[in-house]
Amino acid sequence: MSLLRTDGLTKQFGGLVAVDEVSFEVDSGETRAVIGPNGAGKSTLINCITGALEPTAGTVEFDGEDITDLEPHETVQAGVSKSFQTASIFPEMTVRENVEIAALASEHGSFSFDFLKRLSGFDAVHDTTDRMLESVELLGDADVEAASLPYGDKRRLEIAIALASEPDLLLMDEPTAGMSPDETAATVELVEELQDTLDLTILIVEHDMEIIFQIADRILVLNRGQVIADGTPEEVQESEEVQEAYLGG
Ligand code: ADP
Ligand code: MG
Repeated sequence: MSLLRTDGLTKQFGGLVAVDEVSFEVDSGETRAVIGPNGAGKSTLINCITGALEPTAGTVEFDGEDITDLEPHETVQAGVSKSFQTASIFPEMTVRENVEIAALASEHGSFSFDFLKRLSGFDAVHDTTDRMLESVELLGDADVEAASLPYGDKRRLEIAIALASEPDLLLMDEPTAGMSPDETAATVELVEELQDTLDLTILIVEHDMEIIFQIADRILVLNRGQVIADGTPEEVQESEEVQEAYLGG
């Protein structure tokens, strides 16, 4: 069953068509990848889904609801969460506080942390927070100041922050960018584990083809804003258009 579906999704920046009538689906429970050369429109597509960008045309449907015109905080409440926005970490707060505030903000909108702590639901948030920190293997660092985490752990904290709203669909835009080979391997392993343990559906943009072929059930290939292939890793690999796009032909 499809959890997310776009139909003719289009985003123009002035005369540039960054996303050009993209229609695709993400099935419940799958790890769906979006690949394509630099500037293909991958991030723009993701940002149109979250509501960070307003599409020029087309629709986004999630869990049977039209979410095209929702604001970012509303798509989070609907069950769509995006990881890897470095700005989402409060460096002076502890690891635990960062996840707690994300959990509370997803329910109540954004207020000050002190205000949120006084809300009655705060104890329940502790449980969610611990579960999410455990799932990204940061529970041992829960009381550490976020700023002091090594780079790879900061990215894991970003995943925990994205998970704090208990989404059905997790969006990730190049999660291994800037990571060392060890951090990359750990992140790939983490993504695979999350899908199993949290029953998550994942939509991931990733430039590392090896990773994509390891974790994706199906791959959408964009070039200059348009879909040039969509299918299993094997199907996509055989596509002549894909080979041309990547070889610059
Ligand atoms: P990708 O993530 O696949 O590398 P992007 O979605 O970031 O590609 O960009 C697609 C195209 O849209 C590029 O040509 C880029 O320069 C352009 N673009 C992206 N964001 C904006 C923006 N806010 N204003 C104008 N042009 C943009
Ligand atoms: Mg991008």
